[in-house]
Amino acid sequence: MIRPDIRALAAYAVPDATGMVKLDAMENPFALPEALRLEWAEHLAQVEINRYPDAAMNALRERIAARDGVLPEQILLGNGSDEIIQMLLLAADTGTCVVPQPTFVMYELIARWLKRPTATVPLEADFSLDADKLLRVSAREKAAIVFLACPNNPTGNLWPRESLAQIAANSPGIIVFDEAYQAFCGQTHLDLIAPNVLVLRTFSKLGWAGLRLGYAIGDEDTIKQVNKVRLPYNINSLTQASALFFLDHYDEFARQTQQICSERERLYTALAKLPAIEAFPSQTNFLLVRVNDADAVHQALMHRGILIKNLSATGGLLSGCLRVTIGTREENDSLLTALKEILS
Ligand SMILES: *Cc1c(COP(=O)(O)O)cnc(C)c1O
Repeated sequence: MIRPDIRALAAYAVPDATGMVKLDAMENPFALPEALRLEWAEHLAQVEINRYPDAAMNALRERIAARDGVLPEQILLGNGSDEIIQMLLLAADTGTCVVPQPTFVMYELIARWLKRPTATVPLEADFSLDADKLLRVSAREKAAIVFLACPNNPTGNLWPRESLAQIAANSPGIIVFDEAYQAFCGQTHLDLIAPNVLVLRTFSKLGWAGLRLGYAIGDEDTIKQVNKVRLPYNINSLTQASALFFLDHYDEFARQTQQICSERERLYTALAKLPAIEAFPSQTNFLLVRVNDADAVHQALMHRGILIKNLSATGGLLSGCLRVTIGTREENDSLLTALKEILS
């Protein structure tokens, strides 16, 4: 009844975080200011919930396109960028999906659902990407699509522009630069867009994880083709209305992003001083650290009410690794205090 390969998969696991300091999912830690929250609620009350959502989403695409300096026809909206990854894998021509390892797990997971063969390119010990190696694997495996998270999750680093430009220029298949953390690093790859090169973005890490809104920016015709596999009404009316409203108040989120970046630097400096921790620099809203016994540290933090992500079971370069999302100043201080106790 069910495909054996689906039966063999584990479902994407999300731990219960009730009552915990939640530093596991790269969410923005700040609540909406009260005044903004009330104004938003009034705005949402105008939505005609008995009607299907705006199917073409021209207003929202125009707003997003204007911010990024592209045409509305270059924007494809998804129910989170996860949905766009799925659309791209559905629409890409026959061939392998190539991803670095380690990277964001959804690329390979969705490729499996769709029975698309995958190949991985191991990162170097310092998490750098060997562009020549990736191009060799892509050629050998007849890559139809390559996903590159820039900066990369879960390693937090950003590969140099020259390597990425080299990959874009020498790949016949689709190249996706996933800029989920663009706001935390400043670097963009929009200028590399070509018929086979797309950029992926999301509002999740910026403070709207609950809305589920991501988008692809690409060449007009490529977007037109991929749009054919988008489910009608994929972005619900409340999300559309909320996004239009929040884009008018973007300053607030930009301020929060700045605060998260300065907290990241403060936390990195403090963690790097702890002898039992190897901390890796990050261009995102999280930090990757390596410890001697990741399972024990993860458990001990849980007992102190702090939830982070344990990546150690992935093995390879991630052996002993934990990923912590940057929280508020108070949350980061709790984490630091707890880690000092646990590791002393
Ligand atoms: C979080 C994340 C996403 C998924 O974002 P959604 O828009 O919430 O689906 C995509 N890519 C990377 C690299 C991420 O870390």
